[in-house]
Amino acid sequence: MKNKLFVMSAASGAGKTTLKDKVIGEFPDIVYSISATTRKPREGEVDGVHYFFKTKEEFEKLIKEDGLIEWNEVHGNYYGTPKFFVEDMLRQGKRVLFDLDVFGKVNFDKVYPDATGILILPPSEEELERRLRGRGTDSEEVIRLRLENAKKEMEFAKTKGKYEYTIINDDLERAADELRAILKNR
Ligand code: ADP
Ligand code: 5GP
Repeated sequence: MKNKLFVMSAASGAGKTTLKDKVIGEFPDIVYSISATTRKPREGEVDGVHYFFKTKEEFEKLIKEDGLIEWNEVHGNYYGTPKFFVEDMLRQGKRVLFDLDVFGKVNFDKVYPDATGILILPPSEEELERRLRGRGTDSEEVIRLRLENAKKEMEFAKTKGKYEYTIINDDLERAADELRAILKNR
């Protein structure tokens, strides 16, 4: 399983979606695992592409039926990794890239301990706030909650997380090169 599964984590707004979208097309053998969530879709987000958007009841049914590798409540919503997709992709010989919060990653490691962890950091707290605001997708209340959680998440990641790589996403091109190098490293 080594070098088959890659897990990216970051504080919200650090830029992991941007980085992932920039490089994933260059690796035909890597697929992105689409998570299930109870968060409402942002403008432009498509069900089955960005997430599988679920009601709370549907999500709780998935948990009960053991359909998730891991799940967690993040910023007030449920997020989880569907089992069927990963197992199917591994059978097909694909590699899989995940986007998990830092606490979900710990539970993920219990199932797949060899997964490669990649922590994406913003250059500073101020820049993280600028990016969250600049993205223009979240209310002031949601931005506040995400910034508050970012501190706890990064503290946890640095002390208790298992991340083989850390990428500081200051210059996007350089950060993308670092991600490419990790994904190439088989
Ligand atoms: P995440 O998926 O980690 O929550 P996003 O990929 O949505 O974060 O990025 C948050 C915002 O920051 C977006 O508006 C994106 O365009 C911007 N952004 C991402 N990376 C950089 C970068 N290296 N420099 C400047 N802005 C960036
Ligand atoms: P967003 O709402 O910005 O898309 O994502 C919020 C947070 O949820 C991010 O930290 C992201 O990594 C995390 N997340 C997305 N999918 C999953 C998942 O399947 N499991 C867990 N544990 N976290 C996830």
